[in-house]
Amino acid sequence: MKINNPKAIIIGAGVAGPVIALFLQRAGIQAEIYEARPQDSTGWFLNLAGNGMDVLKTLGIEKPIMAEGSPVPQMVMWSGNGNRLGEVRNGARAGLTESVIIRRGELQRCLHDSAMKQGIRIHFGKKLRDIQTTAQGVTAIFADDTTAQGDFLIGCDGVHSRTRQIISPDAPKPHYTGLVSTGGFTNNLDLPPTPSTQHFIFGKRGFFGYHVRASGEIYWFNNHGRAQEPGRTELTQIVSEDWQQRLLEMHRDDLPIINRIIESTQDGIGAYPIYDLSPQPIWHKGRVVLAGDAIHAISPSAGQGASLAMEDAAILAKCLRHNHDLETAFSTYETLRRERVERMVKWARSMGGAKLASGPIQIWFRDLLMPFFLKFATNPAALDWVYAYDTGWDAAKLEPEPSF
Ligand SMILES: Cc1cc2nc3c(=O)[nH]c(=O)nc-3n(C[C@H](O)[C@H](O)[C@H](O)COP(=O)(O)OP(=O)(O)OC[C@H]3O[C@@H](n4cnc5c(N)ncnc54)[C@H](O)[C@@H]3O)c2cc1C
Repeated sequence: MKINNPKAIIIGAGVAGPVIALFLQRAGIQAEIYEARPQDSTGWFLNLAGNGMDVLKTLGIEKPIMAEGSPVPQMVMWSGNGNRLGEVRNGARAGLTESVIIRRGELQRCLHDSAMKQGIRIHFGKKLRDIQTTAQGVTAIFADDTTAQGDFLIGCDGVHSRTRQIISPDAPKPHYTGLVSTGGFTNNLDLPPTPSTQHFIFGKRGFFGYHVRASGEIYWFNNHGRAQEPGRTELTQIVSEDWQQRLLEMHRDDLPIINRIIESTQDGIGAYPIYDLSPQPIWHKGRVVLAGDAIHAISPSAGQGASLAMEDAAILAKCLRHNHDLETAFSTYETLRRERVERMVKWARSMGGAKLASGPIQIWFRDLLMPFFLKFATNPAALDWVYAYDTGWDAAKLEPEPSF
């Protein structure tokens, strides 16, 4: 299926969507993005790892993101009763790009602005309902009965991807990890700023992370186990005050700073169930291909989901730049990405498991073993396979993925 001057339809303007559109433009391929939500999006914050920042640097769009976020090179781990378990670099070893913590809404605004400045159109309020493909092209059909035509379609519509359901209806569904994530922001507590550090506390009944920015604002999250998968709307029906009470109770036996932070958060505490998704049998079909969480969602425990989505963007656009035969381009993209993302999802699952420890014996073992684990993690090169990834965008040829 060879195509000249192809036009892409991108579904989803989260992380993968705008970054792919920017790379496609560099590859000489025009793209328009269709996003289900209205323009203003919210959410908490995320840790954008150095490998993701490197992809943004390739596009030259990292500066506004660094200005809105803060580089956080260090993570300190604590047990619930206040023992300092150790510290590790946040991701990259010296010499590699540092991770940045940024509000999700700010990240999206920066990515949307960068795309729109380059003339890429983003259509908000367009929820994909169906896809029709013919020998001539592909049509996206939206919930409001409008349509969009292109030569190929990229599903960047997240873990519950409609695109994936359409091209691969029998594929395994997203896997509920048994963890629920809650979080919020507060400006109402006078803690000394530690802008280069994220603190992680392995509490008795929940895991707690916080970051005090230079301005004194605190970003925080909690992960806790919940055996039964919540219904789609169940968690959103719980109001902020109820979450606050539940979390205060959950952390009552842990370091008091946790409950001081939770108490000082006046509103906006919400929750998400955590899913991952891998391996998936079908990455592409005909004129349709998947990227980001739509094909390999990963637990936030690794802080890698957004970075993997950005890497996908560069590699997919690179495959299309080298080959306008869609079948070959999509298969090469899958070959270059599959092994890495599947390994990463497994790695994140193993980290999520440490947060699920419950009962005094499991917790005792975890706190005992954590310093040994941290010692391994401080080996400068041990995590190069995660953080030193190079998409090779500037290389003239398609290179195989680097191995460490
Ligand atoms: C609680 C939590 C914390 C996280 N923390 C981190 C972190 O610290 N670091 C990190 O790297 N990653 C983190 N992640 C993961 C990260 O958010 C994702 O991996 C990343 O956003 C994936 O980007 P994406 O573009 O593939 O999907 P998304 O960002 O989910 O974007 C998908 C977009 O598609 C849109 N969409 C969905 N359905 C349709 C449809 N039918 N039609 C049109 N549009 C549609 C959605 O509205 C959305 O805007 C976290 C995830 C969660 C849930």
